[in-house]
Order: sequence, then C-alpha cells, then structure tokens
Amino acid sequence: MVGKLSYNKMLQFRENLPAYKKKENILDNIDKSQVLVISGETGCGKSTQIPQLILDRAMNNMTGANVRILVTQPRRIAASSLAMRVAKERAEMLGISVGYSVRLEKVESRPRGSIIFCTTGVLLTELEVNQALSNYSHIILDEVHERDTNVDLAMAVLKQILKKRKDLKLILMSATLDAEALSTYFDNCPVVFIEGLAYPVTDVYLEDILKLTHYQIKKEVLKKHKMQKWKKFEKKVQSREANELEQYIKHNAEIGPWLESIKNNIPLDVYKTLKDPEIEAFNIDLIVVLLKYICNGEPGAILVFLPGIGEITKVMRCMELSGFFNERHEIYPLHSKLATLEQHKIFMRPPLGVRKIILATNIAETSITIDDIVYVVDCGRIKVSGLNVEQNISTLKTEWVSKANLHQRRGRAGRCQPGICYSLLTSYRAQKLADRLLPELQRSNLLEPVLMVKKLRLGLAYTALQTVPSPPAEKTVESAVRHLQKCGALYKTETLTPLGWHLARLPVHPAAGKLLLFGALFGCLDRAASVAAVWSYKDPFLFVMGKEFEIKAVKRRFAMGEPSDHVAMSEAIMQWESCSYRDRRSFAYDHFLSNNTLELLVDMKKQLGENLTQMGFLSSSDLHAQWENRNWNNMSLFKAIVAAALYPNVAQVRWRNLKSVKKHTSIKAVCPVDGKVRIHKSSVMTCLHGTQRREGICNNPGANWLVYWLKQRMSDLFLIDVNLVYTLPLLFFGEFSVKEDLENPEDCLMSITKTINVRCNKNSANTILKLRILLDKVLANKVTKTCPHSVKQSQFEDVVLKTVIELITAEDEQADYIEDDVSGASDDNGR
Ligand code: ADP
Ligand code: MG
Repeated sequence: MVGKLSYNKMLQFRENLPAYKKKENILDNIDKSQVLVISGETGCGKSTQIPQLILDRAMNNMTGANVRILVTQPRRIAASSLAMRVAKERAEMLGISVGYSVRLEKVESRPRGSIIFCTTGVLLTELEVNQALSNYSHIILDEVHERDTNVDLAMAVLKQILKKRKDLKLILMSATLDAEALSTYFDNCPVVFIEGLAYPVTDVYLEDILKLTHYQIKKEVLKKHKMQKWKKFEKKVQSREANELEQYIKHNAEIGPWLESIKNNIPLDVYKTLKDPEIEAFNIDLIVVLLKYICNGEPGAILVFLPGIGEITKVMRCMELSGFFNERHEIYPLHSKLATLEQHKIFMRPPLGVRKIILATNIAETSITIDDIVYVVDCGRIKVSGLNVEQNISTLKTEWVSKANLHQRRGRAGRCQPGICYSLLTSYRAQKLADRLLPELQRSNLLEPVLMVKKLRLGLAYTALQTVPSPPAEKTVESAVRHLQKCGALYKTETLTPLGWHLARLPVHPAAGKLLLFGALFGCLDRAASVAAVWSYKDPFLFVMGKEFEIKAVKRRFAMGEPSDHVAMSEAIMQWESCSYRDRRSFAYDHFLSNNTLELLVDMKKQLGENLTQMGFLSSSDLHAQWENRNWNNMSLFKAIVAAALYPNVAQVRWRNLKSVKKHTSIKAVCPVDGKVRIHKSSVMTCLHGTQRREGICNNPGANWLVYWLKQRMSDLFLIDVNLVYTLPLLFFGEFSVKEDLENPEDCLMSITKTINVRCNKNSANTILKLRILLDKVLANKVTKTCPHSVKQSQFEDVVLKTVIELITAEDEQADYIEDDVSGASDDNGR
C-alpha cells in the first residue's frame, strides 16, 4: 500500500518532466529506427525517464521479459545515484527491476524486464566477452556530449554491432548541441529534441560582479628577506616584475579595446581592476567575497563550479577562515571522487533560513541535477587533461571552459524559479571562448585506448581509431603503439603478446598492470598492488596549504630513505591497512593521508586481486598471501620492478657534487627527447641537498636512471612520481640489445633506450645477455601458463629468478658497484 502511494506520488512528479511528456514521440521513433538521438536540456528527465518509458510500455504490452536496458554513464557516481533514484521512482528496492554496475560495486537486477545503469567502461568490458551484447535489447549511451574515450570507442563498436543485430536498439542521449553530428555519424538517424522547463536566468559577468561587490585585488607583498638573501630577493622581484609586465601586455592586448569601449559605462575602480591581468586568474578571494554578497541577499541555494577537488578544498577553507559562514549555511563538496553521494542532504531543500552552498566540479554540469539551485557561480575554468601531440606529452591544465560548458552551467540556476548566473569572466571573454572542448581521444596519449582496441579485436590501431566520430592524430596512435611495443605488450605486428593480453584484461593503465603481474611473479605483490591502485586512482597524500614541509617529511619517512615515491606511497598504504579499523582515521590524519582515498585504494587493491585470480594468475585473491609476498622487504627488487613497469619512461640522471661533503649534492634529470626536465616538488627526491642528504634521503648516490610515472607540462616540464635505479633493472626489464663498441673493441654497448647505451666489458655483457634470455623465457612461460604461477615453480625457474634478484639487490645495496664496473653512460645523442 505504502509502495503504491509513493509510486503514485512519484508518478505525478515524473509526468511533469518534459521527457515524460514526449513519451509517445520518443517511443514511436524508437520503434521506427534502430538508432535514435535524444537531445534535451539537463534535468528534463532523459536519464531517469527514457529507460523507464521503454520498460513500462513493454510491461504493459506483456513483453517486459524481452526487455533489458543498459544505460551508460561517464562517471560511477552518476550511475549509482541514478539507479537509486529510478528504483525510488518505481517504489522498489534496488536489485529488482533496477540495478547498477560500476567498477567496485554491483547490484544485479533481475535478468529480464530490467534496467541496469553502468559506467561506459563496464559496457566495454562486457563487449569483450559478449561481442553481440546478446542479453540486451536496448543500449542507451548517456551524456554522449562529454565525448570521453570510452563513449567514443563504444559508439564505434556499437555501429558495427548494429549491422549484425538488427533487433538491438541504440539510443544516444546528449545535453548539448551535438545532436546533428551524432545523427550524421549514425547514418542520419532521427533526432528528438526535448525542450527544458527552465526559468529565465540573468547573466552577471565579471565587470558587473566587481561593481556589485566593490572587490579590489589585494597585492601580496613579497616577504622581506634577511640581508644576506637580498640578491635572491631582488632577483625574485625582477623576475616577478618581468613576468607581470608580460602578463599585463598580453591581458591588455586581449581585452584592452573592449575595456576602453566600456570605460565610460563603468566606475573607475572597476576599470582599474579589470586592467590588472590577475583579475582573470582563478581567484578564491573574489569567490568568497561574491558568496558573501549573495548570502546577504535573497534566499536560494548556490552552486559554485570550480576546476577541481583541490580548489574545492581551498574555497571551503577560505570560507571557514572568513568567519562569515555558520550554521545557517550548509556547505557541500560535490566531485567524482566522493565515495558515495551524501544523497539525501545534497538533493534536499534545507530548513527555512538555512542556505545550501554546493562546491562542485564539472560533475554538476550535466550528470547530477540539483533542483533548488537559484544562484550559479561559475569560475569559468575546467581542468582538462591534454596532450601535446608534437611532443607526445600529457598535460593537465586548468583552462577556460567552452561556450557549451558556460551554457550548461548557467542553466543549472533556473530549475525551480528564475535564477542568476555569476560568471567570473568578462562578457567579452565569454564571447571569445571555443564552442566546445576537444573530444578526449584527441587529447589522450592513447595507451589504454589502443589496448582496448586490441582487446576488442578491432584490428590495426590506426584503422580502428579512424572509425570513431573524431579520430585522433596518426602520430599519437603511432607513438602509443610504439610505447606498447617497447614495454612488451605488443609484438612488432601489433598483436598482443601474452603479457599484452593480461595487461589489456586488467582494467588499469598498462604500467599498473605490468607492476601487478611482476609484483606477483617476484613476490612483492601487496606493495605492487598498492602502487597499481594509486596509478589507477590517485595519490593518498593530501595537499594541505602551508604544510608542505611536514608532508614532505612524512613522505620521506614512508620512503625509508629510498629514492622512490613509489616506496613511499606503498608503505603509507600498507601501514594504514595494518592499523586496526579504529585507528585508521587517526593514522591517516597524523600522516596527511586522505582516509577516504585510502579506503577506495584498498577496495581497488582487492578488486585487482580478484582480477588476477579470474585471469588464472593467482590461486587466491588474497594479496597478503605469503608466497606472493616472499620478497616484500626487498626494496631494491621493488624499485626494479617499478622500473620494469614504467619502462620506457626513463630519464637519465646527472649528479653534481656527489662526493662533496661541503657542497649540496643535486641531481639533474635529462630525457632522451625533451632534454632537461624537472622533478615535481611533491617527490621525495626533491630538495636533495644540505643536511637532508646526510639524513639518508637518498640511498642510491650515483644511480643513473629515473623512471617516472608521468611527464607533464605545467609551468615547466615535470616528472611526477619518480623512482631512482641503477642500471641492471633496465637491462633485465627494458628493451635490450648488445652491440660491438667500435671505439673500444674490448667493450660492448648495451642499450637502455634507443638513444642511450651503457658501455660494459664483453664478458660481463655476455653474461648479462645470457641471463636476460633465460629471464625472458621464464617470464614468458609464467605469463602464458594458465595455471596460477605460484602453484609450481620449477627449480630452473627458481634459480633464474633468484639470480636476477640477487644481482639487482647487490647492485642496489653496494653503491660503488656501478662506478667500478659499468663505467658511466655514453649517449649517442652526444648530450
Ligand atoms: P537529465 O538526464 O535530462 O539531465 P534526469 O533524468 O537526471 O535529467 O533528472 C530529471 C529530474 O529528476 C531532475 O530535474 C530532478 O528533479 C530529478 N532527480 C534526478 N535525480 C534525482 C535524485 N537523485 N534525487 C532527487 N531528484 C532527482
Ligand atoms: Mg542525465
């Protein structure tokens, strides 16, 4: 009875949604055409209603058992929250006609007559085992306008499947203006537009915001330095001034003419502020001032769009410090890394007199709709991962949003009454924005997409990637294929090696997959899985402003003197895991770790263990099993397998003042193609000078190679998460070849990378080569075998692995070895 009542109450709400009102039109089109594009304003009921309309009609026609609908979402949090919402609308528990499936969680629905919400990644995994998607009647790709890699690949694959499965229906749903392009891609399929029920929204741009808030930029004064540091200080001022001048010229060249044209219509102080280039930078101060201004006015919930989680934390902190916000304000963060949405509170209207303020990333743009928003504050920025195609370098930058983002974001304000959108950019800038952002496939280094193409058996990477709606650059595809060949995942013919098969099957970046497999083979699985989880998700260390030194000290303690960020992160995770449940939170707090992130990382490790077991690689998914961790304490070995996993991401290291007691020891990293690069300041390897070295920061003086997780262009070219190793790990696990040294006939040259060789005497080179061949055999055998590798280890395998481990350990532990035996690195580039 209660069920019926709440169903009817919900039905009333549903019937008023624009998508529901277009019921007949939509269902007719689905009947008529195999593919349909539905485009409609966010919040009009696409995600929640369309699947239900299809299912309900089938059930009314007594054909419900023929229907099973898969709805994909770009983000897990959207998939689970939609499933919960739809179950609620149907007055059901989850797991009857509605379920969901995201990476670490699954609630099955009944096998027929049901809707399942999943991430697009889950759909691709499904496609691997079930290439015809035979158990589904309808596939709905939602949020297609986001154009993430998975959705583009899914569209390309589905296009093929539709030719074979004429009974399968595909529905593409999108919030913005892409509808026509999508329809063209699917042979001009029909498009249904759903009008929103939006109220008018007033736009307030930066120039008006300055007028309203009387905000002026506070100039930070460079701190006075002691006299002996005066030179440095002076330099800083100079470089700052030079920088400022450059910014000033650029800024005024851009907005100058417009600013002059409105000069007479704006107060003089606003004019002056707008002339300062800093005003268009991301400005937390101004956001807080604006929030206070809004809070002093009419009631209504506020949604603030910020570029990332870091900024959300900073704004929350500043709000706290301002002393203005109190129990009359409910402040919520909203981003995709939240474990689960605090569903109810964030969607519910707060009590009278209390104002809800939501600080969100892009996720609130279209994925998650909160109805009672009246004010939107849009910082106009978005964090985008990018790719420098020429140099094949990933970038992560905060950039201006596109016009499409701006439009979507302002629309969030007029859901239940007329709203106001405050955009922290000038009306002039708003007009100059790009129409939309590039699709992710054109901004990615393509390693995982290429493996995905291989796993889905779509043929040559380049040809397959030509079939997506916006193909990536040929050059990028080529370098991804080359990278995968170098790390042993692909043969020269571009087919998957046995290692490649495993890597493609693991739902993680190929480096993380390789680390897991090697971790299992070499007996340091738990530590390897910890790092693999971080690479798949994120670093557990918090960034706390003003606590950088303390955080670095904690990290270094976790690194135990090893020059490796990966030792530090794995140790942090493992120590947290070994705490009792009760103590974990305080352990995390004391060590600047995020308890939430750690919880997810440990879940992810568990899942990775299960993946390895499913693949037949482990006999039990217990990552703490004794045999798999027989070498858990051997950091030399661990650093070596991290190098194996990250190869070919190698930089060469040059030491300065290595033997000096008085002078600072420092290192310089050089990449084969890019030349000098910097180690990111978050690394345990930075600040390698003065007393810190004597405290044992670096166990491996003179080691020649840095392997790195990511090379990223920020203000400079940075290596993020590095691990310093001697030469043997690369000779054992990298691409390897030996050639005659023409200059010194006694010696051989062994290649570390294409352009860097190591000179070594012939006898040693031969020994290493022989051992390498044996090692490759053992590893290939272990990877190919279907039975869990630990069940039987032949004596031969045992001896080979032990020898390799002993050599790596000996080299690492005896700092002088490398200097005596392998004399420096020679470099064909002459660098
Ligand atoms: P669309 O996919 O077109 O953006 P949705 O189907 O997600 O729209 O949402 C339609 C409406 O349902 C929203 O405007 C909102 O009012 C309501 N809604 C959606 N999800 C929830 C939820 N989790 N809690 C409460 N209301 C929700
Ligand atoms: Mg939606």
